[in-house]
Order: sequence, then C-alpha cells, then structure tokens
Amino acid sequence: MKTARTYLDWNATAPLLPEAREAMLRALDLIGNPSSVHAEGRAARRLIEDAREQVAALAGARPQEVIFTSGATEANNAVIRSGWDAVFAAGIEHDSVLAPIRASGARHVSIAVGSDGVTAIADCEAMFAAKQVPGRSLVTLQMANNETGVIQPVAALAGIARGQGVHVHTDATQAVGRIAVDFAGLGVDYLSFSSHKLGGPKGVGVLVAREDAPLSPWLTGGGQERRQRAGTENVAAIAGFGAAAAAAQAGLAGYARLAVLRDHLEAEVLRITPAVTIVARDAPRLANTSCIANGRRAAETLVTVLDLAGIAVSAGAACSSGKVAASHVLEAMGLYPAMTRAAIRVSIGPTTTDNDIAAFLAAWENITRQVAKAA
Ligand code: PMP
Repeated sequence: MKTARTYLDWNATAPLLPEAREAMLRALDLIGNPSSVHAEGRAARRLIEDAREQVAALAGARPQEVIFTSGATEANNAVIRSGWDAVFAAGIEHDSVLAPIRASGARHVSIAVGSDGVTAIADCEAMFAAKQVPGRSLVTLQMANNETGVIQPVAALAGIARGQGVHVHTDATQAVGRIAVDFAGLGVDYLSFSSHKLGGPKGVGVLVAREDAPLSPWLTGGGQERRQRAGTENVAAIAGFGAAAAAAQAGLAGYARLAVLRDHLEAEVLRITPAVTIVARDAPRLANTSCIANGRRAAETLVTVLDLAGIAVSAGAACSSGKVAASHVLEAMGLYPAMTRAAIRVSIGPTTTDNDIAAFLAAWENITRQVAKAA
C-alpha cells in the first residue's frame, strides 16, 4: 500500500503550479526559434517577452532588466564572477554565492551575523569606507535565508553601499513570491531568483540587472539575453516561469497567512519537545519557514525517520559520505556545534493544509515517544 505523503520542503522546491504546466505544454508545441524572424520564430519570441514582463512585474523591475538564466545559481555566479576586486558577504549566504567568491579570486570581506540570523549591516559603513582594497567592490546580501527564513535588511544596506560606490547584489531566491520585492525601490544593482521556488519549472531563473551595472558576459556566441547569456532560450521553461510569476503575484497578499500554520506547528513542537530551539524565532522571518534544532539527534537521522513516516522535510546541514556536516548558516550565526548538526527545516506553501501540519506533529510526537522508550 502506498502511504500518503506530506510535502513540507517548499524551500527546496515548490510543486509545479497548474498555470505553469499549461503554459509549458502550450510552448512545447511551438516550433520556432525565438531568434528567427519568420512567424514561427516571432510566436516563440512573444512567449519569452510575455514571460519577461510577468517576471519583471513580480520583482518590481523593467522587462529590459530581466536576463533569463538556468536558475539562481547561474545568476549568482554571473554577478560574482564579473571582475570584482573585493566582495563583501556574510557566512549565511547560499553556497552558490560563497563558492564563486572563492573561485573568482576577489578578496572576500566577511560581514558578521547576529545570533538572530540578521546580517550586521551597521558594520558595513566603516568596512566600505575602509574599502579594504582599491578598485571595484560588490556587496552581496540574500533577501531571505533558505534555512532559517530570516529576512535581511537589503534596502538599508543598499543605501549605505550606494553612498560609497559599492555595487549591490541580492539573492532573492527565497523571498520572491513570498514577500513584496521591489527591485527599483530596493536600490540594488542585481537581484537573482529561481522559478521553481515559486511554482514554476526547475532549471530556469533570472538575473535582474540594471542596464548600467557592470556585468561580464558569461556565455558568448549569440546575441540572446542582452548579449550576456548566449544560446537559444529554453522557451517552455521560460513560459512556465512567467505563468508562475503571474500566479505568485496574484497570491502574494495571502501568503502571510501561512504564519498561522507555521506558528501553530512551532508551538506544538515546543509543547511536545520543550528542549528544542526554534532558530531565529523572534527575528523577521518568512511566513513559511521553521528551523527546528534539537541538539541531540543528527538532522539526517530525523529527516530519514520522518521520511519513513511519510513526511518530507530537509536537514539544514548537508550529509556527505555518511558524515553529517554542520550547517554553515547556523555556524555563521554562532550556534553551538551540536546544534549546527541537528537542525531540520520545515517549509510550507500556499497549498499546505491543517492536516499536513497535524501529520507532521503526529510523526514528531511518535518519534519523541520512541526516543523516550529507547532511553
Ligand atoms: N539561493 C538560495 C537562497 C537558494 O535557496 C537556492 C536554492 N536552494 C539557490 C540560490 C539556488 O537556486 P537554484 O538551485 O534553482 O539555482
């Protein structure tokens, strides 16, 4: 018998929206190359440009600022590998930000993070003034963290950076479609996000970039996407992304209600297991994310036990060759080592129900009882 599954891992990826699926199926039947001038080509081009408008609208950007990519990873890499002398970034950034900083040869200047998960931008004023190295500098600050959901003060940072000639990038992958994001109003130069976190297909994303912001083309050999990213566009994926962006925009006003489900889950988890810590519970957070650190059982064990009980959640920490790694995000927040290996992330979405939360809590209570019995 197939057991019913409860999917609580929306920060990893969201289920495909029906609107996105339909847009993709329609696009698959178009035969034209969007760069061709004939009617078939123009029909494919129209889909891409319509999607560009939908994605731009969701991010508060102009369509000409939208460069389609294969995802946020590519968008983050493209910005960070654009020839900076110094890059300012905190340790809570996603690996697709931190790894290209290391690979780029730029000087990495680390920004501190509070125990609440919020980046200490007050330090940045003096750091930018000292400039660390002469030349072109970039500061990158995610809009919301994928493990804790903590929302970062991007607009305030952009205000500080602009005054000192430092360019600003934000990885908004976990924020777009969940909180209002206004590229123009934020005052940043670059903003990245991925389609699949908001119900579009996987493998497509966007770099929103001001037209006057420095950017080195990262794929050459064609004029597509402002000559920055050559290659025939993934028309169906882009069309699906556009449809998901439009749906996300329509649903944005209702998104905050997810906090009711999330807060109920956290209150019950604390009732069942009073010793656990809800990470960054009092910080400004996305409505859908809960990072539960137990300090005792390795995150991977919990994820596996929950999976067997039909619940999909994820570990903050990655597991490589059987050894549970610490979460670099929780480490950067200064949590003590046992905690950084023992946090799970529960992340919900617009179709999550009371029953899903009840299923998680029943499994949680069951696991706790088993542990108590074994002890
Ligand atoms: N940044 C953040 C904050 C993310 O959560 C993710 C996805 N986990 C990415 C970047 C990368 O997105 P993608 O894998 O779609 O390229």
